[in-house]
Amino acid sequence: MDFILIVIVFLACGLTAIFVHELGHAFMSRLLHGDKNWYIVIGAGTTLLETKWLMLNTRFYAGGLCRYSASQPEKWRLIMRSAGGVLANIIFTLAFSAVIIFIMVQQQGAFVFMHMGLLPHMLIVANVFIIIFSLLPIPYPFGIMKGMPSDGLTIIRILRGDEERSSN
Ligand SMILES: [Zn+2]
Repeated sequence: MDFILIVIVFLACGLTAIFVHELGHAFMSRLLHGDKNWYIVIGAGTTLLETKWLMLNTRFYAGGLCRYSASQPEKWRLIMRSAGGVLANIIFTLAFSAVIIFIMVQQQGAFVFMHMGLLPHMLIVANVFIIIFSLLPIPYPFGIMKGMPSDGLTIIRILRGDEERSSN
């Protein structure tokens, strides 16, 4: 596989995993907090796409965040919203893995899997990376959410009694 193609696949997988993660936060905010005006920002730099719910910027590898416009006070709702990103990544990864396994079984083995190239591996790796990174209970060291608490740290703070307004 060409190096450039590998890079493109890698970036596309990263973008997909970030987007899935932020949608998880948005879904929980809508479902558990009645938030109809959540807003996802992905990346930094020049804006590529802007809608009522999403801003996508060129340097999307800088990370993403979901801004909330409504909050219910109960701790479990706040925790579920902060966990929503990671939950979405887990569900996505499991569902995607199931599809891959199904295809492999249907098509009799690794032949097809190998010819699908790096995409399946990278998509899973990107999701697992974001799951781990989001749960590390530290402020993010870089990216658009630099200095902001990770989801793991946010959950710890909610348990301690501090309310959070956004997730990254
Ligand atoms: Zn998150």
